[in-house]
Amino acid sequence: MYTRSRSDVLFATARDCMPGGVSSPVRAYKAVGGSPVFIEQGAGAWIQDVDGNRYVDYVLSYGPLLVGHAHQEVVDAIQVAARKGTSFGACTEHESNLIRKIQSFMPLMERLRLVNSGTEAVMSALRLARAFTGRDKIIKCAGNYHGHADCLLVEAGSGVATLGLPNCPGIPKHVAEDTLVVPFNNLSAVEQAFEKHPGEIAAMIVEPVAGNMGVIPPADGYLNGLRQILTDQNALLIFDEVMTGFRVHPGGAQALYDVAPDLTTLGKVIGGGLPIGAYGGRDDIMTWIAPEGSVYQAGTLSGNPIAVQAGLATLNSGLNEWDYAASQAALLMNGLGAIASDKSVPMQVNGVGTMFSCFFTGAPVMDWDTASTSNVVFFAKVFRQLLIRGVHLAPSQYEAWFMSTVHDSEAIKHTLDAFDEALEVVLNDD
Ligand SMILES: *Cc1c(COP(=O)(O)O)cnc(C)c1O
Repeated sequence: MYTRSRSDVLFATARDCMPGGVSSPVRAYKAVGGSPVFIEQGAGAWIQDVDGNRYVDYVLSYGPLLVGHAHQEVVDAIQVAARKGTSFGACTEHESNLIRKIQSFMPLMERLRLVNSGTEAVMSALRLARAFTGRDKIIKCAGNYHGHADCLLVEAGSGVATLGLPNCPGIPKHVAEDTLVVPFNNLSAVEQAFEKHPGEIAAMIVEPVAGNMGVIPPADGYLNGLRQILTDQNALLIFDEVMTGFRVHPGGAQALYDVAPDLTTLGKVIGGGLPIGAYGGRDDIMTWIAPEGSVYQAGTLSGNPIAVQAGLATLNSGLNEWDYAASQAALLMNGLGAIASDKSVPMQVNGVGTMFSCFFTGAPVMDWDTASTSNVVFFAKVFRQLLIRGVHLAPSQYEAWFMSTVHDSEAIKHTLDAFDEALEVVLNDD
């Protein structure tokens, strides 16, 4: 029997001292109703809330936990590192080890800089792209999220979309004006942007597999087409692989689709649940970064030794079993799709590698306009029914489900049974 009381008490306290009671808006339950569950602990594929309810977790901290919760090797690595000191503000050995590990899967990242979050990585990569090209404007896709830097918080996907906040106040008009927004999977819109602003566009940044409006793979030829246009225009192509890195393929989308970006941003998995980010790419561009070059970017905690070790342990153990995680994701996607179609529930399952989404719509989802045809009221009902049956999803139709290397057949079966029952209940209530 599912009961909760302590989560509600804790949320009341949190609301008193934090805006909306949360440290990040995506954790709020505004779009699905009710109030958030407070998590006490996690182990493997499962988490437990403060009332003792257990859930199979598909949030996985929004992606970082490729090897699941409290993985032994990750915890050991963190403990060993912490005993030696938490931060030095000086060079440490393992920064290069993490970077070498990343490079062994993403050789196009000829040199990297470690930072503290995906937001910071993207912000820095854009500054670099603007400096290198001597141009100010950037192109992004509607529904892509690249962190909360001013110039990127324009039509920015899940968190913003879920809360119905198309335009964020506090962003200077002249900053927003330098961001050109095009639909995802649409090459002619990119060509038109260059025709309208010749010689003014520094770069296009894109989630090569969109993940922040739900998962949407690139159409055939889309990424190659972008590569061609950006090269022709002497502008840079930036792949934001903060989410897709080590998730859609061990080598990210750039390996899966064999398309070479000039710069890449990373985060999430490379920190294994600790705060980290990274950006890197072509050597002739990265050499512009201070102290080699004049583009300033710094960080008190950058290359933090504990985060670096958590990342290394996650990559070492996760990439060995990556294929298993991807096959479990495929199994679950097929199972969920079969249950929905059995009950004649219109649902699109989009997935690549270890991340996927279920959109409650009959229309194929290929961009923000088609994603937003989803029945979010239906999603909210299914979300609530899954929650009380021990399945923890992100509280939004427009987020991905993430798979780990430790979601075993028991976790998958639990999820499919819960999904079957949840749909049954929701359909009978309607
Ligand atoms: C999560 C995410 C970011 C932001 O990373 P933070 O660590 O939350 O700042 C940027 N880009 C993409 C594609 C992301 O998924």
